[in-house]
Amino acid sequence: MTTFHVLGFPRVGAKRELKFAQERYWRKELDEQDLLDLAKALREKNWKHQADANADFVAVGDFTFYDHILDLQVATGAIPARFGFDSQNLTLDQYFQLARGNKEQFAIEMTKWFDTNYHYLVPEFQKTTEFKANPAHYVQQIREAKALGLKFKPVIVGPLTFLWLGKEKGEAFNRFDLLNKLVPVYVDILNALAAEGAEWIQIDEPALALDLPKEWVEAYKAVYATFAEKVNAKVLLATYFGSVAEHAELLKGLAVDGLHLDLIRAPEQLAVFEDYSKVLSAGVIDGRNIWRANLNKVLDVVEPLKAKLGDRLWIAPSCSLLHTPFDLSVETQLQAKNPALYSWLAFTLQKVDELRVIKTALEQGRAAVKAELDASQAAADARANSKEIHRPDVAARLASLPADADKRKSPFAERIKLQNAWLNLPLLPTTNIGSFPQTTEIRHARASFKKGDLSLADYEAAMKKEIEYVVRRQEELDLDVLVHGEAERNDMVEYFGELLDGFAFTKFGWVQSYGSRCVKPPVIYGDVVRPEPMTVRWSQYAQSLTQKVMKGMLTGPVTILQWSFVRNDIPRSTVCKQIGVALSDEVLDLEKAGIKVIQIDEPAIREGLPLKRSDWDAYLQWAGEAFRLSYMGVQDDTQIHTHMCYSEFNDILPAIAGLDADVITIETSRSDMELLTAFGDFKYPNDIGPGVYDIHSPRVPKAEEIEHLLRKALKVVPKERLWVNPDCGLKTRGWAETIAQLEVMVEVTKKLRAELA
Ligand code: GLN
Ligand code: ZN
Repeated sequence: MTTFHVLGFPRVGAKRELKFAQERYWRKELDEQDLLDLAKALREKNWKHQADANADFVAVGDFTFYDHILDLQVATGAIPARFGFDSQNLTLDQYFQLARGNKEQFAIEMTKWFDTNYHYLVPEFQKTTEFKANPAHYVQQIREAKALGLKFKPVIVGPLTFLWLGKEKGEAFNRFDLLNKLVPVYVDILNALAAEGAEWIQIDEPALALDLPKEWVEAYKAVYATFAEKVNAKVLLATYFGSVAEHAELLKGLAVDGLHLDLIRAPEQLAVFEDYSKVLSAGVIDGRNIWRANLNKVLDVVEPLKAKLGDRLWIAPSCSLLHTPFDLSVETQLQAKNPALYSWLAFTLQKVDELRVIKTALEQGRAAVKAELDASQAAADARANSKEIHRPDVAARLASLPADADKRKSPFAERIKLQNAWLNLPLLPTTNIGSFPQTTEIRHARASFKKGDLSLADYEAAMKKEIEYVVRRQEELDLDVLVHGEAERNDMVEYFGELLDGFAFTKFGWVQSYGSRCVKPPVIYGDVVRPEPMTVRWSQYAQSLTQKVMKGMLTGPVTILQWSFVRNDIPRSTVCKQIGVALSDEVLDLEKAGIKVIQIDEPAIREGLPLKRSDWDAYLQWAGEAFRLSYMGVQDDTQIHTHMCYSEFNDILPAIAGLDADVITIETSRSDMELLTAFGDFKYPNDIGPGVYDIHSPRVPKAEEIEHLLRKALKVVPKERLWVNPDCGLKTRGWAETIAQLEVMVEVTKKLRAELA
């Protein structure tokens, strides 16, 4: 027999039921009991899907009302002391307050879960943190599964990953020193699960795929030896999101009963672990992407493993299925519109079924699932041979790019002179990052248009009116380089995806981003081509309204790639360069239309960095090239801007400089321009616009605050190189505060200008 299990399931439900219930509960439109009942029903459904597919265990403990790392903070008693809550007797309301903040306390900070788009709540460890076991969350879910007569396997994130993902707060100390206090509490929790009858416990240690300091790596030995000695259950140590081959020796010697490997992200590591002497869980179905597997190919890998390992072989998705949408079969529109693409996809339920087929084939031979294997093969063959997705013209264009295609004609020092000559901007020019408030009217207009209640002409007229409004306000504010406000864009990636060939959209392909928030990434499935201009009309219209300079606005190739589900049949770098080349067509059309200041946003460039530093250079190399390709061929006097936010950029400054944008605008205000100091130390060569106020808040900054930031900036950036702008786009703000905020920004700028002149 071959054990088939999943590492975790999506929590929000096939139709995002949990999201809607939570939000109703927060608005006090739903009772606590109703929310609890709905969650219980969702768990039951999830388990039924796993059991129906013949899984040998259902995963329990993976369900959460907000985040599994928050659950772990509660389970170990490590919730932030500043809330003053008792973790042993935490109410559901208090739980949500930890996640969302309350009147006195800001919410626990969130950050990205490894290189996914899921966000976890960052544990706040203090020197004085005391842990205390509270396994109720897991025990309750186990009891539910038992009541249904299901064979279950609890899943929990392990102590080293938990500590690693946290932050030190208060008095300086090293959170690693908390490990000795944490491990006994884990023992208590794990034993509580064992006492409920858990034969196996899955302990996730994805931190093993990072560059961990040596003492952290070495600690695994003692921690897991303690578990082996004191916990009355078998432990499956789960790694994912990357190779753990560098730790092979350690892992083979670890006192656990099984090891899970991500063979999608790092198939090559299998060779290193083939002689593993205990249970080996092979993660062979992609838990991070939406493509249907070629099951014959998977069997080619697992059959020899089976021959070697016998019953010690387990099969699973590469990681938790949390990162994939729920069910492809509801995508009837996509199926009707693009049946070929539909046949190449697999969401959570389809992936679970793929594992059922693999299990059956391993136990009874391929003939027992011939129909399924044939269908999978047919889809794979059709995809490999599709003329729609492999377009010779696209490949030829990429292949024939000259070696210096991604270089500007002249260096920055010469370009900027030509740009300044026609731009005629004052010192410290002011600008915006792109979007202006996305009012309810704008969103209504878009919704009515999509429903067919508003004609295209009426919709466009409404957008034009909005653009005119945005232009007039900027003129009144006396800003220097204007933007059109992006009213016509639903989302900075989706908007371009809808206008480019090679992209598709699902209707229900939601994945959890954080808490009740889900995103629906576009699907990049084919070679990317821009069939016709995308933004030129809008920018041209905006420019026609004003004597001031209008900045064109595009989303960059890396950000489009990063926020989509990306095809897996060609390298990501190739997809990214294709997008860059497609965007260059737009840039040249904008230039031709007289839009000679063009911003190419790359807020996601930092988050695309690989988990391991040794892989950074290769990524930065192709990401940079793709970005530069997006402006290939522009004249020297055309000014290319870029914009970045959401992260710290200190460690990739050379790569950012290598993008060779004439101007970079960047989020800095929340860190008190700390970031900028790094730009100064590094001597960032081109123009730079550090954000002077935080756009996440409706608060109107005081003039002194902006002045303080700008003076700080002037210490590290020559005044000729400095721009003035908000941290990011303004689409989440209201109009009144936007005007008030920008007024202060302009007022302070004018004061400093007079001083510097
Ligand atoms: N141009 C975009 C906007 O202003 C940039 C958004 C972003 O950086 N996330 O909305
Ligand atoms: Zn931004």
